[in-house]
Amino acid sequence: MTQITIIGVGLIGGSFALGLRAAGLDVHIIGAGRSERSLQRAVERGIIDSWSTSLTEAVENSDIVLLATPVGAIDRVMEEIAPALGPATIVTDAGSVKQSVIASAREWMQHFQNFVPAHPIAGTEHSGVEAGFATLYQGKRLILTPVEETSPEAVDVVAELWRATGAKLESMDAAQHDQVFAATSHLPHMLAFSLVETLHRMDQKSPLLHHTGGGFADYTRIASSDPVMWRDVCLYNREALLASLDEFQNGLKVLVDAIDHRDSETLEQLFTTAKETRDTKVLPTDVGGSNDGDREP
Ligand code: NAP
Repeated sequence: MTQITIIGVGLIGGSFALGLRAAGLDVHIIGAGRSERSLQRAVERGIIDSWSTSLTEAVENSDIVLLATPVGAIDRVMEEIAPALGPATIVTDAGSVKQSVIASAREWMQHFQNFVPAHPIAGTEHSGVEAGFATLYQGKRLILTPVEETSPEAVDVVAELWRATGAKLESMDAAQHDQVFAATSHLPHMLAFSLVETLHRMDQKSPLLHHTGGGFADYTRIASSDPVMWRDVCLYNREALLASLDEFQNGLKVLVDAIDHRDSETLEQLFTTAKETRDTKVLPTDVGGSNDGDREP
């Protein structure tokens, strides 16, 4: 029986455990985190078999450790668990940013070759222990970003587990990953958060939010995502996100100028390009993520 420790039994960690169970894998899953109440609830939901709030105790005899906390917690978690990891223990993560997590693993793990960085391109706007479900990863992409030192055997073990959850595997360079997802996932989340916050401010002056319709609800679904997770994505993918926001500001300026100058040609051209791109290139399973987002089932 494979012993797996999941640190952070929320949407991503919980769904991973439920996916493995649904696939019939012979696993003993230990949950670890800060809240006893959440961990106990994870046992009740059949997500984990046992739990500990001591991270070192939780990883001590495990074959595989999945880090599924917000990205900003990973460095401290790595520091804490590193001395308790066995020489063959494989550590992987699910963080939405890859270069910072790899840097932490490199700093703290004695057997850095056993660290397999990964990122599931699946999620919902819900979080916490109640949010996980077994089919979250079915047909969704799982991006592996191994580095030169990463053991191919460790990659195979992690890949096999994710395949069992139904994920389709891809590999990517970590820096490229952070740039790509800054544009396709992190930027749209920033725009959704900012749009809702803007309307909230306008609503304070003169109530208008009760007039929003289906389009607004569709567009802003991801603004219901976890604030801590997204705070950390901003802090740890800062440069790539700022570059994407710059591009967006350039595009927004073109739009504002066209509206200001009643430039119907530019407006129509811009909307046509966007419509054609959306209609032909954005596939439903590729919409980069509600929290890297994909759709709720
Ligand atoms: P979540 O539902 O909020 O779960 C996070 C879990 O981490 C909670 O169980 C929380 O439990 C625990 N936790 C938080 N801070 C901790 C700390 N300092 N030490 C130990 N445990 C801590 O979040 P999630 O959506 O599953 O996201 C987890 C990771 O997956 C993040 O790195 C995120 O970037 C990545 N990701 C998310 C999505 C998505 O759509 N949500 C998609 C792809 C990747 P306690 O509060 O009880 O400790």
